[in-house]
Amino acid sequence: MPSYTAPTKDMQFVLHDVLQASTQDIPGYDEMDRDFTGAVLEEAGKVAQDVLHPLNVVGDTQGCTLENGVVRTPEGFKAAFDQVREGGWTALDADIEYGGQGLPYLMHTGVGEILSAANMAFNMYQGLTHGAYSAIHAHGTDAQKQKWLPKMVSCEWTGTMNLTEPHCGTDLGLMRTKAVPQDDGSYKISGQKIFISAGDHDMSENIVHLVLAKIQGGPEGIKGVSLFIVPKIMVDDEGNLGARNGVSVGKIEEKMGIHGNSTCVMNYDEATGYLLGTEHKGMRAMFTMMNEARLGVGLQGYAQAEIAYQNALAYALDRLQGRDVTGTKNPDGPADPLIVHPDIRRNLMDQKSFVEGARAFVFWGAMMIDRAHRNGDKDADGLISLLTPIIKGFLTDKGFEYATAAQQVYGGHGYIEEWGMSQFARDARIAMIYEGANGVQALDLVGRKLAVDGGKHVMAFFDMVKSFIKENAEDETLQAGFLDPLKAASKDLQAAGMYFMQNGMKNPNAALAGSYDFMTMFGHVCLGLMWAKMAKAAGAALKQDGADRDFLEAKIATGRYYMARQLPATGMHLARIQSGPENVMGLEATAF
Ligand SMILES: Cc1cc2nc3c(=O)[nH]c(=O)nc-3n(C[C@H](O)[C@H](O)[C@H](O)COP(=O)(O)OP(=O)(O)OC[C@H]3O[C@@H](n4cnc5c(N)ncnc54)[C@H](O)[C@@H]3O)c2cc1C
Repeated sequence: MPSYTAPTKDMQFVLHDVLQASTQDIPGYDEMDRDFTGAVLEEAGKVAQDVLHPLNVVGDTQGCTLENGVVRTPEGFKAAFDQVREGGWTALDADIEYGGQGLPYLMHTGVGEILSAANMAFNMYQGLTHGAYSAIHAHGTDAQKQKWLPKMVSCEWTGTMNLTEPHCGTDLGLMRTKAVPQDDGSYKISGQKIFISAGDHDMSENIVHLVLAKIQGGPEGIKGVSLFIVPKIMVDDEGNLGARNGVSVGKIEEKMGIHGNSTCVMNYDEATGYLLGTEHKGMRAMFTMMNEARLGVGLQGYAQAEIAYQNALAYALDRLQGRDVTGTKNPDGPADPLIVHPDIRRNLMDQKSFVEGARAFVFWGAMMIDRAHRNGDKDADGLISLLTPIIKGFLTDKGFEYATAAQQVYGGHGYIEEWGMSQFARDARIAMIYEGANGVQALDLVGRKLAVDGGKHVMAFFDMVKSFIKENAEDETLQAGFLDPLKAASKDLQAAGMYFMQNGMKNPNAALAGSYDFMTMFGHVCLGLMWAKMAKAAGAALKQDGADRDFLEAKIATGRYYMARQLPATGMHLARIQSGPENVMGLEATAF
């Protein structure tokens, strides 16, 4: 059976040595000192290890069931959800006014990694609620916030996001669900939504569905889409639960992974809904929380790679196969452990260097979100918006890749369910698809984000890398294997951007055919920058009395591996982009 230990030491290193969280000029960050974040992460680790992780396999094997219109979650989920709720874990960064604890989003993100790694399917129930909470918080009237938010913060009522329909997922302009205005200001919502995560379950008193629908007579296409609050059970003005609304579950989808999360077909039959935000501006309302939601999915990607890596490492230390060609390491045993073999080392280093780099990237991104929200910093907002498709796309692609790489360490046992490794890969796979498929993230990056504010934010990113290299030119740790690769990779990325500028206007396919490569190489540069920051912090910490030498030296060595073995991938991606769209688009559709 797999196990999980929250990597709190690594998290604390990122929060304090790298990001220096408690000294940042962001309101609320002064409380985030080492002791405080350490205590929160340790407690979250206990919940994850003792309560959530043991239910991971239970959720995977039992799945959710639909009985007489009611969805039942796997055994133990409800009790665990009560425990998470009572521990206040669902309310960490929520607004104090609605019962939250008002902590920074960064703290929520650290805890989120732990809970998601331990049990991704379970954590989605509160993750979706958090997304719905954020949308109501940003766009609701005062009365709506008072009515819905306190119970959502405590997760007594959970939330969902309903965008997808049978004939449309990416192209939501094709949506058919309709909203008919009523005399009392409410709407009657009718239509079918599919693939709705946490669409129904038995762990909360009520479910607050956020549903995209078209108000009759509104503009065609995406410009006519509005967002509605549609409760499963009606709520009166005093907050009392009343009759069932016209919302029902058509079926639960059978799927590849995250079996513990109920993915539902939802039918809305003249259900009562309340407009959230402005008429026909539903997509804008959804998009205001996209940075957070997509960062949360990127986090799911590397969190699954983290738990898979932990188990692969334990297996590699334990399993005896073959001998070290440079000299036996286990003379008393019949063979040496797998970890002696260079190819196993390569695999483990790939996983380790990705997961630790990804964690730094996501924590840094969460800090940008805090800076944007708490300081009203428009530059931070622009930068995180630019990087959001990379966090989502790159980290979930690689998260899946490394979850399967971890399976490989187990050989055939990785493919056998008994060992639990296939669940990590199966669960991680969905993160590449939902919240906007990764190909669409790449389109968003190249087709939209690069040009925002006249390219100001991408230029700011390049300046950030350049300044880092310049300011640290004399840093001895960084001189050895960090600065040159980072410079070269950043140059490749700029050359790719230049190619798009020179060719994209004449032929949009020149940019679109290279968009996935661009997203991937941008991801590598981001992780390269994060590793340089981590190496700098580790180098500085090594000079302190009582430094944890083994830990800090391992950080630097892992970073050096990423710079030498992963970052050069930017050269290949640049070559692909510069080869132009002809190779991609050369065949007629009928010739495939
Ligand atoms: C387990 C699960 C949970 C989900 N949870 C939710 C949820 O809670 N709420 C919700 O609303 N939805 C949810 N979804 C739906 C999910 O967000 C969609 O499946 C996803 O957005 C893709 O939409 P689609 O499946 O219709 O694919 P399509 O839109 O048909 O796309 C198919 C493929 O074509 C590509 N593509 C599409 N358009 C373009 C283009 N213009 N250029 C290039 N490539 C393109 C896509 O990248 C994709 O690879 C969930 C799905 C699953 C499987």
